[in-house]
Amino acid sequence: MPVEVRVRYAPSPTGEPHLGNIRTALFNWLFARHWGGTFIVRIEDTDVTRKVEGAVENNLKSLRWLGLDWDEGPEVGGSHAPYFQSERLALYQEVAVRLLEEGYAYRCYCSPERLNEMRQEQQSRKQPSGYDRHCLGLSHSQVREYEVQGITPVVRFKMPLEGETAFEDLVRGHVSFENRLLDDFVMLKSDGFPTYHLANVVDDHSMEITHVMRAEEWLPSTPRHIQIYRVLGWEPPLFVHLPMILGPDRSKLSKRHGATSVLEYRDMGYLPEVVFNFLALLGWSLDDKTEIMSREDVIKSFTLDRIVKAGAIFSMDKFTWMNGHYIRQLSTQELTKRLLPFLERPYGKGGLPDQIQRPIDTGYLNKLVPLLQERLKTLASTGEMNTGEMISPFFLDKLDYDVKLLVQKEMDITGARSALEESLRLLEILPDFNAQMLEEKLRALSQVLGLNTRQLFGILRVAITGRTAAPPLFQTMETLDRERCVMRIKAALESLRHVPVL
Ligand code: GLU
Repeated sequence: MPVEVRVRYAPSPTGEPHLGNIRTALFNWLFARHWGGTFIVRIEDTDVTRKVEGAVENNLKSLRWLGLDWDEGPEVGGSHAPYFQSERLALYQEVAVRLLEEGYAYRCYCSPERLNEMRQEQQSRKQPSGYDRHCLGLSHSQVREYEVQGITPVVRFKMPLEGETAFEDLVRGHVSFENRLLDDFVMLKSDGFPTYHLANVVDDHSMEITHVMRAEEWLPSTPRHIQIYRVLGWEPPLFVHLPMILGPDRSKLSKRHGATSVLEYRDMGYLPEVVFNFLALLGWSLDDKTEIMSREDVIKSFTLDRIVKAGAIFSMDKFTWMNGHYIRQLSTQELTKRLLPFLERPYGKGGLPDQIQRPIDTGYLNKLVPLLQERLKTLASTGEMNTGEMISPFFLDKLDYDVKLLVQKEMDITGARSALEESLRLLEILPDFNAQMLEEKLRALSQVLGLNTRQLFGILRVAITGRTAAPPLFQTMETLDRERCVMRIKAALESLRHVPVL
């Protein structure tokens, strides 16, 4: 790369940062880190009416969670401060005045009603919509009249009427737009705030951005930007338009396809390194087959020629598979640390039962984590049940039994009782209470009792954990220890005592 790379992530705080936004941030960050360049965060908050409370914070939170540090921007400052467009209004106004003076822009006094009528008329005549240049070349007296009426004008950019605006996009190649289809867009609103086009160009120029890397939906804005650069005599940056993110049905990824906000995935128990790895592969690939890549590997190989043109399909199944894969690679201690905040949630929100004391005993949790690790799909769930619910039998003193679950298929109450009584006798005298010995001896017992293992292990699973889905039985028993297992089997027997023999 001949120049020093300067790229930016420029979110508008008009909603929750979604996967597409953060993918854009990630690609910019990767490109900057690959070339030892500068990654800038700039907040494009000029649309006051669409501003959403907390959106800036959630953007920064998402970046921080993924470890995407920024060299210039909110909180960290930098040599091109400020990084909120709402604090840079004078700069845009100055450019608008310059363009007015040089005849590249003009004031427009049209009322919203007039613009509406114009649009309806264009539609009824099946003409392309766009401003009809009503205010271009107004006479002095007309202008005075509007001003006497107290109308504050907007400033429109005068687009060329003929020819085309073309540029080389680093992903899409040669792109061109017919100028006659691009109307005289508003650059400065009547409240003195710039529109996206003006502020974006002024800032990319003044912040010395070398590559504008953004989602494909901004492609139609680019000829407008290029025209602004042209009349100002500024060198435009290079453009890189990233492929769309699609749902499995190939339509644009949206709420319909499930959660779209990165922070929602965090709360669902996806790991930040998975979101990083997965998003890196949405529109970029190393070799079409490598799926698991570390941060360092992605940075090392991240070049623009590997960005793909076609829309990138977001597959929830693959995302969840990758999450499980990463979870299984974590050390017990690390997984314990990551599970804690999920288990400490209220029971109704997926944590351990509320009667279990918080903070949770991490030493004990450390012992349980290996039993769980294989089964977790996310930090919050095994797919079958919440993590808190799954391990609650390890924390509870007393379980509630459902007799129907205790009595296994093709067994009756008497059989169930004797299976539990015989198991109890065995467990009380077992020399070593470890998983291997438990399995061996209980297998043998099932034969003696004339039961199949599914039946005996099934009834024991319910007696020990209170339910049918649980971590592996023998490890569970070992971890719970002999005393608690014996207590539970006795309690299960007790619950069968009052059931009439049918
Ligand atoms: N503010 C725009 C957005 O919200 C930025 C587009 C661009 O990068 O130029 O995505």
